[in-house]
Amino acid sequence: MRNSAPLVLFGGTFDPVHRAHISAARAVSKVLGDAPVHLLPNAVPPHRPQPTADAEQRLAMLRLACHEHPSLIVDDWELRQQGPSYSLKTLQHFRQQHPEAPLVFMIGADSFASLHHWHRWQDYATLCHLAVVPRPDSKLASGEVLAAFPESDAYGLCGQPAGLRLMLKRPFLDVSATAIREALARKGDCPALDPAVSAHIRGHHLYNVPTTTHSTDHEAP
Ligand code: ATP
Repeated sequence: MRNSAPLVLFGGTFDPVHRAHISAARAVSKVLGDAPVHLLPNAVPPHRPQPTADAEQRLAMLRLACHEHPSLIVDDWELRQQGPSYSLKTLQHFRQQHPEAPLVFMIGADSFASLHHWHRWQDYATLCHLAVVPRPDSKLASGEVLAAFPESDAYGLCGQPAGLRLMLKRPFLDVSATAIREALARKGDCPALDPAVSAHIRGHHLYNVPTTTHSTDHEAP
């Protein structure tokens, strides 16, 4: 079996980036031999409400959160494209750039459960592997998606360019950007954020943070 260095793509709204995003990206990188993970904030997400913070702010927060993690690469490719950010288009671009490499698309279990609703999801199996990160209260994926991506291990993924599925067991974190935005509007801070990201949010008055805040309040989001 051929074994080559994989490249990982992690798309999201990152509105804002939080602890679960970073832990998940680091976990996938580690299991794949310190593979680089490209974190790609989307411009106009096709499957969900539009972001609260603008693209520049989401990018700035991602850069702050990834600063100390050399395997995490903040990538503005989707922000530079026109129209909705379809992951398929991003995958096609990276596949063209890296014709032979194992390309790994990482997603949370909640996104994985709805993959069968995504635009041309069947084409993903020819373009990339999936790395699925567990998330509390996620539904099960559809049988056809499970069948399209046979489960494998990290060694299997490194041995071919696409078509397999890696199921991670951890991190398993009950954190969401929605709960964080609510906590920020209520209390002005949230422990699931990197301190540099919290400071950026307060400094730029994002997410309706109250002007006087008590950042020592450590209630979970
Ligand atoms: P929101 O609450 O605004 O929907 P989010 O916290 O789900 O945001 P996104 O930027 O929408 O964050 O997610 C990007 C990717 O990260 C998705 O694949 C999502 O499934 C995954 N993800 C987000 N939070 C977690 C988590 N706690 N555990 C595992 N995966 C997660």
